[in-house]
Amino acid sequence: MVSRVIPVEPFDLVIFGGTGDLARRKILPGLFRRFCAGQMPDEARIIGAARSDIDDDGYRKMVAEAITEFGNGFTCEAKTLDAFLERIGYVAVDATGTGGWDELTSRIRDGVVHAFYFSVGPSLFGDIAERLHSHGLAREDARIVVEKPFGRDLQSARALNATLAEHFREDQIYRIDHYLGKETVQNLMAVRFGNVLFEPLWNAQYVDHIQITVAETVGVGGRGGYYDKSGAMRDMVQNHLMQLLCLIAMEPPSKFEPDEVRDEKLKVIRALEPVDPHHIVRGQYAAGGDEASYREHAEDPRSTTESFIALKAHISNWRWAGTPFYLRTGKRLKARTSEIAVVFKDAPHSIFGVDAGRHRNVLAIRLQPNEGMTLDVTIKEPGPGGMRLIDVPLDMSFADALGEEAEEVTDAYERLIMDVIRGNQTLFMRGDEVEAAWAWTDPLIEGWQNRGDVPKPYDPGTSGPDDSMMLMHRDGRRWRELKK
Ligand code: NAP
Repeated sequence: MVSRVIPVEPFDLVIFGGTGDLARRKILPGLFRRFCAGQMPDEARIIGAARSDIDDDGYRKMVAEAITEFGNGFTCEAKTLDAFLERIGYVAVDATGTGGWDELTSRIRDGVVHAFYFSVGPSLFGDIAERLHSHGLAREDARIVVEKPFGRDLQSARALNATLAEHFREDQIYRIDHYLGKETVQNLMAVRFGNVLFEPLWNAQYVDHIQITVAETVGVGGRGGYYDKSGAMRDMVQNHLMQLLCLIAMEPPSKFEPDEVRDEKLKVIRALEPVDPHHIVRGQYAAGGDEASYREHAEDPRSTTESFIALKAHISNWRWAGTPFYLRTGKRLKARTSEIAVVFKDAPHSIFGVDAGRHRNVLAIRLQPNEGMTLDVTIKEPGPGGMRLIDVPLDMSFADALGEEAEEVTDAYERLIMDVIRGNQTLFMRGDEVEAAWAWTDPLIEGWQNRGDVPKPYDPGTSGPDDSMMLMHRDGRRWRELKK
């Protein structure tokens, strides 16, 4: 299958924080892949901006090293890398001072798309927006890209939105949630809205429940100090799991256009009921193997921040009334697995009798590892001896189905950055969405803080605390196994 790459318009992309971890790990290798795919026009320019005192050549060297270290083995001819590096420059800029801003301004060309990626801590967003404005760079058609975390509660998210709104319109602000850039997540929308098969069944009448799991095997490691101020709810549920839930639960938008899609997502968040405290399980990993416990990483022996959370949510609307959405995410778990599973109800009547057992269709959308989808269908177990039923997966791994093309589209960042250049906000969060997500999250966090709840310890390499299993068992359900 030959992939169709449509080059974007010429652009100047400034990466504030261009020497940082995210830029080196994701943004720059992603841009390089897009360059190799032929999506970047000759006139494209990428300018790193940070305080480090390096010149263009020093930065190009850093970019080449980042591509080698974080490019996942992606290679191309040396002359292609050289051609990419020719498009790279660097300006030493202090986001909070005056140094470097005139030089940066002089490098920005007229007549091309202007995009400014804020790959720095959120405390610098206001300073950068302000200086872009005072240097005449906050032009009508300029775009800014901001990273998570977008606030740590409703109040701070509102303040951040207000700060950015002083100099940029909402249609210029691209709030990244890289989960939305994943191929499978977009495929979820294609499957739902591009087939007649699923949508008629996509409601409380036919869906028993939905599970959304984002499980990691790694612990917080060196990020313990930062993570301890956040926890799984703020770090994962409020943004990534919430976005997945929205895409699964939203009504069909009239068009695949930014506001049409985001209006529908917003309605889902607003329809989320407050969660019963008995339907929330928080956990913290204990020491195991060679690795320290969460509390040792957090450097606070009494930390009550969760490294695991499972909860049961309900959406109060016509489509989903009574259908539970089980969400779980955690660190140091048994497998690195992210998936959404739509578990359909039993057939209304079993003509095969009780011995045939209970069989359910499950549509599982796998984000990692190896993105793809499976649909469990019930068939007769082959062979003589009566009518015994088994569930077999119809498996569609994108790597198998699409071959090389699937490999080309593996990273979410590169897709999202190209969407910024194209001016397409469909896969970015709108300010009101982020605020609504915090408005739902804040009372849950305040609730456990006021109650003085302490997370349950769990052993590394497991599926989290036993109470998480109980959350399901009480409802006569069980989590899908975390598979490697
Ligand atoms: P980082 O490694 O600490 O990098 C921070 C960058 O900001 C560096 O390039 C630093 O360069 C620059 N910087 C700091 N103060 C500055 C100032 N006053 N003026 C100009 N530049 C300044 O952080 P990161 O991990 O890349 O994260 C960047 C943002 O992305 C954060 O908001 C983070 O939450 C978010 N994020 C990161 C990841 C990830 O995987 N790393 C994932 C999701 C979201 P100098 O020291 O040279 O100035």
